Amino acid sequence: MSDTDLSAKKAATLYFDHSATTPVDPRVLTKIIPFFSESFGNPSSQNHALGWSARNSVEEARNQVAKLLGAQPLEINFTSGATESNNWVFSGLFSYLKRERPQEKIHIISALAEHASVVEPIKYLEENGVMVTWVKMSPMGQVTPEEISRAIRPETKLVSIMSGNNEIGSLNPIKEIGALCKQHSIYFHTDATQTVGKIPIDVVDMNIHLLSFSGHKMCAPKGAGALYIRRRDPKVLIDPYMRGGGQEHGLRSGTVNVPLVVGLGEASRLALEELNSTRAQLTEMAYTLWNGIKQIFPEATLNGHPTERIPGHLSLTIPGFSHAKVLPKLGGLALSTASACSSDNPHGSPALHALGMDTKAMESTYRLTIGKTTTPQQIQEVLEIFRKIQKGSSH
Ligand code: PMP
Repeated sequence: MSDTDLSAKKAATLYFDHSATTPVDPRVLTKIIPFFSESFGNPSSQNHALGWSARNSVEEARNQVAKLLGAQPLEINFTSGATESNNWVFSGLFSYLKRERPQEKIHIISALAEHASVVEPIKYLEENGVMVTWVKMSPMGQVTPEEISRAIRPETKLVSIMSGNNEIGSLNPIKEIGALCKQHSIYFHTDATQTVGKIPIDVVDMNIHLLSFSGHKMCAPKGAGALYIRRRDPKVLIDPYMRGGGQEHGLRSGTVNVPLVVGLGEASRLALEELNSTRAQLTEMAYTLWNGIKQIFPEATLNGHPTERIPGHLSLTIPGFSHAKVLPKLGGLALSTASACSSDNPHGSPALHALGMDTKAMESTYRLTIGKTTTPQQIQEVLEIFRKIQKGSSH
């Protein structure tokens, strides 16, 4: 197949996997291109105009990200993405506490349904003496403030609960969990990778101390993300992630990736401007898709919370329609059996497992996630594919 054939094939894909990644918004792409060519300066070069201009662009992006989260620009630290941001939270807090308060025990509260980039770093700390409580999800796929409240101990230093679950789609009651953490003077970290740009987030109102996200889930390029670290009321004390030239307020050294950071800033600006319309559009399309699927497969169930969901996210179980039966018949429909990170996990999805789902149900569970570029026509095309699969099986 020639390159042109391949790109035609790609264009024909019905892409329903926006929780895995999104296409870069053409407006974002236009904005970042000059930073690969004429505007190539290093923001740390402060002796000439190319450097000043790069620094201005990075600071503009920082302002744009801060606005989207209700944060102060100084509280935004650019990283390579949510995995790095999440790792930083745990290693940074652990090394700070070990050095500054070596006598104190450390207890962390989190959930096994969190993304692997939260679970694995915490398990690593657990192996190194940190006490951890893994709280359960409700049958709706949420972590309740009551569960957190029961787990809190005098030694609890951090609660880490994601804003929206990437596999199940349920939103967690972040504001309530934040209020609880504030009341007990515990840091609250949320991995908001699946919700930034889709639901309103205000780190002050929600009492969030640390927040991670990745740009590529919101139409920015892959390889750029941020960690919000609160500076006031209280100032969060964690160690730097990388030591070196002192970039990113001395916390994350290394030359800033200007084009990607500019892309993250522009995507954040657009996400804020279009938040209400994006949210309404994704919710409406997911509703149409779910209703259509329910008509084709009356026995299908929606996993997680029926309304407190990430806009555009559907996790469905269709009894009798296993992956083995359905996947070969999807044609150009790109969906996911769990999340991109667990669809190649031989043990299946940790989140579906945490929901108490058995292997049989997991094998007929599908995640369809809608994005800004999805059209009503594409929803109908997906339904047509499912209709054919249903008819095919009854012959
Ligand atoms: N957290 C969540 C909830 C995610 O969905 C993902 C990506 N699947 C990540 C963290 C990691 O993001 P990245 O791979 O961009 O670092």
